[in-house]
Amino acid sequence: MSSAGVLAKAPGRGGPPAWDVERIRRDFPILAVSANGRPLVYLDNAATSQTPQAVIDAEANYYREINSNIHRGIHFLSGKATDAYEGAREKVRRFINAAETSEIIFVRGTTEAVNLVAATFGRARLGAGDEVLISGMEHHSNIVPWQLACQASGASLKVIPVSDDGELILDDLDRLIGPRTKIVAVVHVSNALGTINPVRRIVEAAHARGVPVLLDGAQAVPHMKVDVRDLGCDFYAFSGHKMYGPMGAGVLYGRREILETLPPYQGGGDMISSVTFEKTVYNKLPHRFEAGTPNVAGVVALGAAVDYLESVKMDLAAAHEADLLAYATARLDEIPQVRIIGRAREKSSVISFVLDEIHPHDIGTILDQEGIAIRAGHHCTQPLMERFCVAATARASFGIYNTRGEADALAAGVRKVLEVFG
Ligand code: PMP
Repeated sequence: MSSAGVLAKAPGRGGPPAWDVERIRRDFPILAVSANGRPLVYLDNAATSQTPQAVIDAEANYYREINSNIHRGIHFLSGKATDAYEGAREKVRRFINAAETSEIIFVRGTTEAVNLVAATFGRARLGAGDEVLISGMEHHSNIVPWQLACQASGASLKVIPVSDDGELILDDLDRLIGPRTKIVAVVHVSNALGTINPVRRIVEAAHARGVPVLLDGAQAVPHMKVDVRDLGCDFYAFSGHKMYGPMGAGVLYGRREILETLPPYQGGGDMISSVTFEKTVYNKLPHRFEAGTPNVAGVVALGAAVDYLESVKMDLAAAHEADLLAYATARLDEIPQVRIIGRAREKSSVISFVLDEIHPHDIGTILDQEGIAIRAGHHCTQPLMERFCVAATARASFGIYNTRGEADALAAGVRKVLEVFG
């Protein structure tokens, strides 16, 4: 691996000089494990990224020194836990440049964030004949919650089409956002194609018609600086475990004006200010949407992931990943049998590909024997797979600690797959 780090920094090889990938790798203990007797080459970051020691420490330390239930306690530990939890909320607010901490709702992850909006917005604002506009490259977690909301309300889904290159076709956007459109919900960065969508343009078009916009930022937040006020979106959803944070803690950002118009999602402790058998008065934001004991340790560790990403500098990380994407794409393009699906002009560090006649699961299995972790399947985007007439793809996705040497290993592994299958 060390040669890859040198490569990434070597002048003339295109690597961004300011990124010391070997130093970054040392922050992630799991990268030292062997997989099937080989050094691990972890290229499944779009599914889950690995966790730096600082985040592991934050979660362990929480249980070692702070663990207690939050908000309602009057004792020492409860105060510390509450401070740590609310401190993480402020970190996340600053990280995505939300106006207020009351706009940051902690959830399990992107899936729960979208379900929260679809369920509450659906109940409050969707009726028979209304429309929800999504795109053809949505993850199932930004499709199915809206289908459920449509079924309950009599509304219907409309879909922005996808081009052969894997870009959204926005020529008809003004027509697609019609008088019955009540919300637009689109992915910021596609997990299956890597496409970075022109979401600001979509927000402008929707807002021109008074229609709010939800962005699924699961694949954006780990790779680029996200500023929710600059994007202008009404809702933004993301997951801790894809941004070098813990599993089971994620974020729904919602503009206060719109959150205040929505009914509660789940009922229970903490989301109320008073309860009688006759009537419940709900708590103020953001607690109104955080019923029950949350994942306090996870949220504290999510705050540590924010600290970590800020400390390594997101713009340098993005430049490193852009270099890896270009380098790995070039290596795979040298193999004639490789067909890359998703050639958007604006792309994040995801490469989906197929080898004609060889099932992606077989590609994944043989790469696994080489210690290379990729993902093979429909990536929870079955309608998108259908659009490209494939049942599945093999997907390599890169993160801040990956190297050009690992991209070389991927290309060598793919050549091995071709050898095995003759
Ligand atoms: N949206 C996108 C674009 C994703 O990549 C994912 C995770 N693969 C999700 C939503 C769902 O995220 P989670 O499973 O963390 O809720």
